[in-house]
Amino acid sequence: MLNHAIARVLPVVPRPVVRRISSRYIAGSELDDATYTVRALNARGKMATIDVLGEEITDARETDAIAAAYEEVLAEVDRRHLDSNISVKPTALGLILDFDLCKRHLQQLVHRARVRDNFVRIDMEDATTTDATLAMYRELRAGGYDAVGVVLQASLKRTISDIGELADLRPNVRICKGIYVESREVQFRDYHAVQHSFVNSLEALLDSGCYVGIATHDEWLIQQAKRIVAERGLERDRYEFQMLLGVRPRLGDALVDEGHRLRIYVPFGSHWYEYSLRRLQENPSIAGYVASDTVGRVLRPGRNGSL
Ligand SMILES: Cc1cc2nc3c(=O)[nH]c(=O)nc-3n(C[C@H](O)[C@H](O)[C@H](O)COP(=O)(O)OP(=O)(O)OC[C@H]3O[C@@H](n4cnc5c(N)ncnc54)[C@H](O)[C@@H]3O)c2cc1C
Repeated sequence: MLNHAIARVLPVVPRPVVRRISSRYIAGSELDDATYTVRALNARGKMATIDVLGEEITDARETDAIAAAYEEVLAEVDRRHLDSNISVKPTALGLILDFDLCKRHLQQLVHRARVRDNFVRIDMEDATTTDATLAMYRELRAGGYDAVGVVLQASLKRTISDIGELADLRPNVRICKGIYVESREVQFRDYHAVQHSFVNSLEALLDSGCYVGIATHDEWLIQQAKRIVAERGLERDRYEFQMLLGVRPRLGDALVDEGHRLRIYVPFGSHWYEYSLRRLQENPSIAGYVASDTVGRVLRPGRNGSL
């Protein structure tokens, strides 16, 4: 109850507090911070996917800057021999502004990734963007851009039919619950319905020959996923688990120790605020985090006593 209330008022918590308590979820503000984090993850047997923070951009020049930042990421990953691909939010590349602009950016990034033997994951955002994002994915694939994958959200009622419609492309899909709160018309709200949809979606994707990124920290779903891949006798290079930086790292260690592949989502950049709010709102111990940070600051005030 308290957690729920705190999660709702987070948008009025001062930004410096949000920044401090969300630092575990973000590699830092610079590319060097991200590559440092990825190197440490790789050393622990974990792959990565780097996200340049930025979303719902409304100015075409900003999309150029984000696209350039991703090109730099691909070059740096290559130069440093890191095991990391990239995850891209279509609205950060202009999806809402201009579909063709976004498509040109994505084509360029997928081309650059292909040349470097790498891969681009198109993140999925809120339900108003699902049609455009899936259309974009289909157009990229039709144009011969193959080093690219998409995301489907198990909490959306449409997902099982989207899997059927995409099947001819044998897409590389990340399946996750989905972070955005949508209307009841389009989204399952019941916890068990979402779990059921996740399991059904994973089975349908694997049965249509897709490579699947299983993105969850939910222990029951991870058990189900292990059962599903074992029943199908899948080699470890036919699927991977995926988790977010800073969320349940011990659970991730256990998956790696059992021989599964695991990829960690590593966000970095100056646009940290919206991403941080989403992660904090999902943290079941948010009240404890905010309280310990605030109490800590009261007991150890900064030089000017401010937060
Ligand atoms: C690699 C990756 C990529 C993703 N990409 C997308 C995307 O493109 N589009 C999209 O809509 N969503 C995306 N998501 C977010 C996802 O849909 C969920 O919002 C998020 O992963 C939490 O769902 P869960 O399956 O872990 O289950 P939950 O039931 O939310 O969490 C299971 C358990 O994990 C722990 N946990 C979860 N979140 C936190 C947290 N923030 N802090 C501390 N503990 C936590 C808790 O112990 C919780 O009980 C992605 C998630 C991952 C892991």
